Amino acid sequence: MKSTEIRAKFLKFFESKGHTLVRSSPLIPGNDPTMLLTNSGMVQFKDVFLGTDQRAYSRATSVQRCVRAGGKHNDLENVGYTARHHTFFEMLGNFSFGDYFKRDAIQYAWELLTKVYLLPPEKLWVTVYHEDNEAHDIWANEIGVPLERIIRIGDNKGARYASDNFWQMADTGPCGPCSEIFYDHGPDVWGGPPGSAEQDGDRYIEIWNLVFMQFNRDEQGNMPLLPKPCVDTGMGLERLAAILQHVHSNYEIDLFQNLIKAAARETRTTDLNDNSLKVIADHIRACSFLIVDGIIPGSEGHGYVLRRIIRRALRHGHKLGQTQPFFYKLVQDLVIEMGAAYPELTDAAARVEQVLKQEEERFGETLEHGMKILEVALASSPHQLDGQTAFTLYDTYGFPLDLTADICRERKVDLDEAGFNTAMERQRTTARAAGKFKMAAAVEYSGDKTRFVGYDLLDQAARVIALYVDG
Ligand code: ATP
Ligand code: MG
Ligand code: MG
Ligand code: MG
Repeated sequence: MKSTEIRAKFLKFFESKGHTLVRSSPLIPGNDPTMLLTNSGMVQFKDVFLGTDQRAYSRATSVQRCVRAGGKHNDLENVGYTARHHTFFEMLGNFSFGDYFKRDAIQYAWELLTKVYLLPPEKLWVTVYHEDNEAHDIWANEIGVPLERIIRIGDNKGARYASDNFWQMADTGPCGPCSEIFYDHGPDVWGGPPGSAEQDGDRYIEIWNLVFMQFNRDEQGNMPLLPKPCVDTGMGLERLAAILQHVHSNYEIDLFQNLIKAAARETRTTDLNDNSLKVIADHIRACSFLIVDGIIPGSEGHGYVLRRIIRRALRHGHKLGQTQPFFYKLVQDLVIEMGAAYPELTDAAARVEQVLKQEEERFGETLEHGMKILEVALASSPHQLDGQTAFTLYDTYGFPLDLTADICRERKVDLDEAGFNTAMERQRTTARAAGKFKMAAAVEYSGDKTRFVGYDLLDQAARVIALYVDG
């Protein structure tokens, strides 16, 4: 089943259950300045859950474009390392605003998975919040999931991938238990069931999270019941597609295979299993959609998230031997894959290409120089990259710290982050002194510093001025 059909079936199913189809909102949340990027389907409905916005419907369904590359959810580091994480992905969701609650949400999910998508029930595992007997009993008695495949999960904070089955919008406000559905990809893949010590593996993959907003937490930590409980669910399209296309990794689904082939074509790579191709295929989606939604590369906020992802992709291209702009050429391939579902992508394609190409031209030369400096540093210290070099790469060559960290991780080299922070602090002190002298001096200072590579003059100036204003 192709991704297109999976999307359509999801929406049709929930429309048949009285849900109103709502289009994906953009990646910059319109209603929440505290949130950098849209990271789930519920974001555009936040005010409806809080009761400050009214809609003409009490049930909704959507396919929401999401980015998790910063803030509370950051999966950038997972890309290329797990079978299931992207920076950009599509979340299929159904929502109840004070309408149905646990029983219907669970029944709908089960019916869709087992009767429409025809997943074998014996491969599905579910988790519930450890105190949520109500959800537990619905799964056990009404759906008939065997007790050994219903796992109670507590507040498992801290562990890298561990489930945390209590959801909250913020420190106060709507919150409640959730129940998640996992798919067992079978013993060929390493990993243990949810809640076990081996859960970090990729055998049991979480596909759907059902959130039951039940309480309203106040500042003292009291949790009275919400007058009208709500439901918010999210299922990753790519993870479901992997199951329905009988592959294990998200990167093996139709859409990704085509992007990986395109990345191989542009980087003249013959080994289609090269990890860098996955990273590039992932990043072209995130970068393109961020630009579609009005973001341009910059040195802070949204712009810096975008810049970090682009530069990371370019570094992977460089690793594959690419020295000329190539990334922007993948936009057309992405349009073929996703343009029908997202006409805004097709409309903005020329602009997306232009923005990417410009950033590639801008970073190309410093990437080359920076890599040489990094090789020299590692040649004299093969087990650790010192903080001063990481800072020089960041400050003069435009290597975001996570890009340098990505290289270090690949080569199993430690990165001296404390040393990086010390060097950054030293720079701030200098910048503050320069800033106090005169704003123009800051521009001159940064221009001077970067003249030999002709790089990012305005950017640097902006950064130094921002530091001055900050401090
Ligand atoms: P995981 O534990 O695998 O990181 P999560 O618990 O962080 O997932 P949720 O916040 O519950 O994910 O999001 C709901 C659903 O969205 C998940 O069940 C999954 O199917 C999908 N999803 C979440 N993060 C990603 C991602 N980075 N890439 C692809 N799909 C994702
Ligand atoms: Mg996660
Ligand atoms: Mg999880
Ligand atoms: Mg989850």
